[in-house]
Amino acid sequence: MARPLSYTQISLYQACPLSYKLQYIDGLRPKDKWYFSFGSTLHLCAEYLFKVKVPPPPSLEALLDFYEAKWLSQGYESAEEEAKYRAYGREILTRFWEIHHPAFRMPLAVEHLFYIDVEGVKLRGYIDRVDKLESGGLSIVDYKSSQNLFTVDDLSQDLQLTLYQLAVQQIWQLPVERLTLYHLRSNTPCSCGPREPAQLEAARRLVLTVAENIARGEFPAVENQYCPCDFPEYCPYYRHQYLAAGPGPVKQGVLPGLVAAEAVEEYVALQSEIKELESRLDELRQVIIDFCQAEGINRVFGEEHAVTYKMTEKTGFDEEAVRALLEPVGLWPQVLGLDPARLRQLLNDEGVAGDIRNRIQALKQVVATFPRLSVRKLTKEE
Ligand code: SF4
Repeated sequence: MARPLSYTQISLYQACPLSYKLQYIDGLRPKDKWYFSFGSTLHLCAEYLFKVKVPPPPSLEALLDFYEAKWLSQGYESAEEEAKYRAYGREILTRFWEIHHPAFRMPLAVEHLFYIDVEGVKLRGYIDRVDKLESGGLSIVDYKSSQNLFTVDDLSQDLQLTLYQLAVQQIWQLPVERLTLYHLRSNTPCSCGPREPAQLEAARRLVLTVAENIARGEFPAVENQYCPCDFPEYCPYYRHQYLAAGPGPVKQGVLPGLVAAEAVEEYVALQSEIKELESRLDELRQVIIDFCQAEGINRVFGEEHAVTYKMTEKTGFDEEAVRALLEPVGLWPQVLGLDPARLRQLLNDEGVAGDIRNRIQALKQVVATFPRLSVRKLTKEE
């Protein structure tokens, strides 16, 4: 039986399947980071304020005492940095208390652990808060301790809220009417209406696809904005640095007598030489063409070589004319083919139904593989 999936796991798999595997299958532990410690403590405190059996909620003093007791020190780079964030957290929570204490209403659920079934795949998670609205519908609140406030796009695309809506509807059998990302640092709730059925369906399909890929053992490394992650020594994009740093000789590269690192530098140097040569070649070509055209001649002689200049024609067919000829005799379909550039255009066309575009996307498959090298200048830190 496959392990339940959580939003965090799904989004990590989406960002980089290998990183998911290293963390959740191989059991490697990511490094402590101050922002995880900070976020966890704030989450615990928000839970503490709302998770009461009966009102009133805890006093500000009790909340701040709880905060001090639950403070996590892991991941801070210095005592000064930790003290700065500790004081900042007190400010955030004081404001949080000032906003929520006077208007306190008992939530329906706080830090609610759920397990739901998505067509045979178990999905699990913790929902920060679920409120019952006066209309009888439900409101889902997810606290975020990230630095930046969310954009409208963040809110409308947030997968976590979409999955939580799926869960809440299944658990309480009541309509979800509001979704909120609550920005803790600025104490700003950003809300929107519930997800439409198509977005819920797309999230369901995503859960199934990720589960299927995991079951098939598909864990390619995919570079993304968070690279390098905490496990670069296991990643094909970064492992070479660790091979080179290890004991013993560096492995030989593909060129005889050259280690791979030397091949890299020579490859880049040659590439830039080729670029310069190509640009000089273009200049000379133009000089010869200009000379031939100015003098009305077709051949220029050097000491040992001659270059011939000739205008060549590229032929093509007028589509409408060909169609007018072939369509009446039923041969037009035989000359039609798939134009990948036009298909890409169609996939980006908002005017085409999302369902059709999704189905075309699902038909995408690898038709050929070939090696490709791309060059990047290393930063000082690297
Ligand atoms: S460093 Fe490698 S394994 Fe880690 S996230 Fe990037 S591509 Fe994935």
